[in-house]
Amino acid sequence: MFLKGKRALITGSTSGIGLAIARALQAEGADVVLNGFGDEAEIAKLCEELGASHSGADLTDASAIEGMMADAGGIDILVNNAGMQHVAPVEEFPVEKWNQIIALNLSAAFHTCRLAVPHMKEAGWGRIINTASAHSTTASPFKAAYVAAKHGIAGLTKTVALELAEQNITANCISPGYVWTPLVESQIPDTMKSRGLSREEVINDVLLERQPSKKFAQPDEVAALAVFLCRDVAQNITGANYEIDGGWTAQ
Ligand code: NAD
Repeated sequence: MFLKGKRALITGSTSGIGLAIARALQAEGADVVLNGFGDEAEIAKLCEELGASHSGADLTDASAIEGMMADAGGIDILVNNAGMQHVAPVEEFPVEKWNQIIALNLSAAFHTCRLAVPHMKEAGWGRIINTASAHSTTASPFKAAYVAAKHGIAGLTKTVALELAEQNITANCISPGYVWTPLVESQIPDTMKSRGLSREEVINDVLLERQPSKKFAQPDEVAALAVFLCRDVAQNITGANYEIDGGWTAQ
């Protein structure tokens, strides 16, 4: 329970990786603030299970983020995890999808960081953990906005890490390859359409094609690294970008 007395906000934590991180931080004693969309009754159940509060703020909207941060109070552990995907050739990429993905996968983290850092500095301790992606250092076709935003968040993380390096506040990225979550499942139909493939072909020949381990990572594996980064022994790990990608980016 080494996180007793710490308050953690995990964006996009009603599902997938964010939910696993929220559960893991709560299990170590952190007070947890959840964020994300979903069924109201299910979210209420989660809040009860984790003793958590929940913000339904839409993080594509900077003023909604300001409201969420004001309601949340001082945040010691900030996990920028909310994200979305859209798959389309660049010349057909819908402009509103581009804007939405940049807003959610990149700009939201800038806003939460700028609003969370004053409390962390005052407390003399802080952890910022950004869920980036193997796409923060490599690209795939048809994912222009996602790849641009994930490269962006890797740069934002390094910059924030340097600015806060002497304040006992670390900022790091975790960069998964493919993790089995609703986000991955939801891009299968689009990829089937854009590449003319069956579901099995998308899973084996497109998704896991780049992942040498040929296994999806599990949300718990990402959460375990997030917990480690909160430990005091991780105080000198800052500005790093940790892959959990079955060897994808080693190629
Ligand atoms: P998910 O779809 O399971 O969860 C996304 C979460 O974000 C949900 O809680 C959802 O409600 C929330 N969300 C969506 N739009 C939002 C908005 N406008 N405002 C606030 N919350 C919003 O996704 P996941 O697979 O768990 O992905 C989480 C993060 O991990 C994302 O940043 C994603 O890019 C990254 N990632 C995932 C994988 C993977 O294979 N699943 C791989 C690499 C990186």
